[in-house]
Amino acid sequence: MTLALIIITLVVFGVLAMRQSPLWQWGLAMLVIGILMQVGYGSTSVLGFVLACLPGIILLLLSVPSIRKATVIKPVYGMVKSILPRVSRTEQEALDAGTVGWDAELFSGKPDWTKLRSIRPLTLSAEELAFLDGPTEEVCRMIDDWDARNNLTDLPPEVWQFLKDKGFLGMLIHKEHGGLGFSAQAQSMIVSKIASRSVAAGITVMVPNSLGPGELLEKYGTPEQKEKYLGRLAKGQEVPCFALTGIHSGSDAGGMRDIGVVTKGTYQGKEVLGVRLSWDKRYITLAPVATLVGLAFILKDPNNLLGKGENIGITLALIPADHPGVEIGRRHFPARQAFMNGPVRGKDVFVPLDFLIGGTAYAGQGWRMLMECLSTGRAISLPAIGSTSIKQTLRVTSAYARIRRQFGIPVGVMEGVAEPLGEMVKRAYTYEAARRLTASMVDEGQRPAVISALLKYRTTEAMRDSVDDAFDIHGGRAIQDGPSNYLFGGYMATPVAITVEGANILTRTLMTFAQGVLRAHPYLYKEIQAAQNPNRREGLDQFDTAFGGHTSFMLRNMVATFVHGITNGASASTPVENDVARCYRQLHRYSQAFALVADWTTVTLGGQLKSKQKISGRLADILGDLYLMSATLKRFEEEGQLAEDRELVDAILADRIAAMEATFGEVFANFPNGVMANAMRFLCFPLGRRARPASDTVNYGFVQAVLRPSSFRDRLTFGVYTTMDPDDVTGVLEDALAKVTEAEEIEARFVKAARRGVIERRLDRDAIDDAVSAGVLNDNEAGIMRAADEATERVVAVDDFAADELVAPREHRVAAE
Ligand SMILES: Cc1cc2nc3c(=O)[nH]c(=O)nc-3n(C[C@H](O)[C@H](O)[C@H](O)COP(=O)(O)OP(=O)(O)OC[C@H]3O[C@@H](n4cnc5c(N)ncnc54)[C@H](O)[C@@H]3O)c2cc1C
Repeated sequence: MTLALIIITLVVFGVLAMRQSPLWQWGLAMLVIGILMQVGYGSTSVLGFVLACLPGIILLLLSVPSIRKATVIKPVYGMVKSILPRVSRTEQEALDAGTVGWDAELFSGKPDWTKLRSIRPLTLSAEELAFLDGPTEEVCRMIDDWDARNNLTDLPPEVWQFLKDKGFLGMLIHKEHGGLGFSAQAQSMIVSKIASRSVAAGITVMVPNSLGPGELLEKYGTPEQKEKYLGRLAKGQEVPCFALTGIHSGSDAGGMRDIGVVTKGTYQGKEVLGVRLSWDKRYITLAPVATLVGLAFILKDPNNLLGKGENIGITLALIPADHPGVEIGRRHFPARQAFMNGPVRGKDVFVPLDFLIGGTAYAGQGWRMLMECLSTGRAISLPAIGSTSIKQTLRVTSAYARIRRQFGIPVGVMEGVAEPLGEMVKRAYTYEAARRLTASMVDEGQRPAVISALLKYRTTEAMRDSVDDAFDIHGGRAIQDGPSNYLFGGYMATPVAITVEGANILTRTLMTFAQGVLRAHPYLYKEIQAAQNPNRREGLDQFDTAFGGHTSFMLRNMVATFVHGITNGASASTPVENDVARCYRQLHRYSQAFALVADWTTVTLGGQLKSKQKISGRLADILGDLYLMSATLKRFEEEGQLAEDRELVDAILADRIAAMEATFGEVFANFPNGVMANAMRFLCFPLGRRARPASDTVNYGFVQAVLRPSSFRDRLTFGVYTTMDPDDVTGVLEDALAKVTEAEEIEARFVKAARRGVIERRLDRDAIDDAVSAGVLNDNEAGIMRAADEATERVVAVDDFAADELVAPREHRVAAE
């Protein structure tokens, strides 16, 4: 009887929790169970009946709003007001600037698959495709990264001119304003291809197309401003920069000390109302060559001349670089890269009100404008640069690992080398999947603030890992810099990608989870808004609704997380019924666990969410893994579930799941409340953490597949610039890979003969001739072998310099001193 009652109770509660049933249904259920208990045990005691029915009666009473508010909601509301994180004005603007989409599904623990599957696949118009295959390819051919970063410390004039003439600097500007009006996907792919040739060139194209004057004018400019500038920007007749960062305001950009005061002044000989500005900005990309400076500053209006009060707030202006008082400083030299970067200053510079972007209507709206642009720009720019570096390093490293032989075999077949190469392969598939999914979201009108933040830090961290792996696999060939080094520029540029558009540590530990949970959690933001409502009565009503929803959300999370944990996701949802179903179920299972842990963490940490960054950083990592899994599955389906990708996709998912489980473990181990940590651990992993990353054998399999020219290798490195020209810095590898592959069987015979001592590799003899003489190779085979050999020689060669070539010209040194 007892067991039956326990089972009935658990099943009923489980069903109510999963359905997120209203309070009165819980009350009724408890009442019925209480009565059943008494009847079942044959009790006739009135007190017994009363006690057994009491919980149900209390819940039924609490389902009456006035009783609930007076007894429970009011005290909880008071308590919660002090616990919940407060949202400042700048945070509020950042939160409102973005939209939520797939991230909210992951936070809900119950993803609606149609939201993922309905996002459009990689789509480009015929015009965009032609631009990629035409001018983009052409400029890639023109770029010589070594020359640019070492000799010119700039892009050559003909490349600048080509970029301007062909409209590269105005890709986001609409056609009606003279720009190319390209989609986010196209912009991302064009920047990707250029950056695969030279990160500096990629950044040069990226910046005018990302957060900056072009985008700000498109979105907020007055008709006159659009008319005046957009056409010129689109054609490269104006070169823009955007100055937000100051000496004392880097990550804390809102804490800037750059001030504008509304006042009267003289402009073009007339007295007009305007702003007197003093600013000191640094690290500004394109500033040294800019003709138009976008500027963020804090606007004050002590005499309330604009009628917006004394402290108007962050405001944006567009100032011609030759405007009196604007001082473009000397160049910075970021990571020894060829792109332009430097400070820009001004002291008591008077500008008319027309210079404010969007006019006075947008005065004080600067932070919101920037955040809106950032939520889309950040989804395009650094994911493009990061993913292309990941793919490009794989392209060259897979070739080099096959061409370079040590101990008589290609280094890529050695298990020790195959390990990092395997990681590079998985990253290439995953981050390209995430890049294209996110660009598609932007093209559908989303402003994925949280996803763009997580993608920015994950892609650039993965870029750093791939560049490091590429260096390790290349050994000395990567370290010796010079015209034939195709890795060094990207290696040096990596910290730039890590630092800009939100430095990674901050983005990971502060922005992603804290913003994500506020924005994407189904109830939390509503509770905070209710708690911050100055009208207490209204706030209480809002809180009552949100709190009720949150409570039922928590109960559902507990039941669903436990059920998915104990069944390993067997009953989780999937949009397909084929053998990929298991992968979707796993994604659902872990998103459910994440929803529970994210919710409990927020409730526990409350206002400490922003300072407990080690916990929130780990939760950002889990959210990132869920997103990367989603993107991987979507790409796999969109490409028609190619059999040759199947093992790779499984391996990626296995790794991500194992990584998430480990991260969950770290969250529980460091959680500030031990009881809750244990409860979460039990609910999420009732059978313990059992996930394993992909096996060595599986990893080794796809590494071997990438060591030869193939459609598999081409798809993994999709979008990077390639050429078969043996005189090109990377073409030399493609040429050699083809020749070495052709010579594979012949070479095996050759190596065997060398091992047997029939021939000998020595500098003073021609071993291929010897092989012909010894009957190991015929003449035709010797030709193939020689071609492979010569191509290999070209690949493994490094640059050297006369001593005086490496010394900076004396006049430069004198100038510097
Ligand atoms: C090459 C380059 C190009 C740039 N281009 C431009 C441009 O065109 N326009 C422009 O306006 N700016 C530009 N920047 C500036 C860039 O956006 C800033 O460098 C960036 O915001 C970080 O500021 P900071 O370098 O001063 O680092 P700091 O803010 O001093 O940060 C130092 C470290 O502390 C961490 N940190 C800071 N606050 C927190 C926190 N609350 N929680 C956790 N960690 C935190 C950061 O992650 C970082 O690791 C550029 C920078 C570089 C290097």
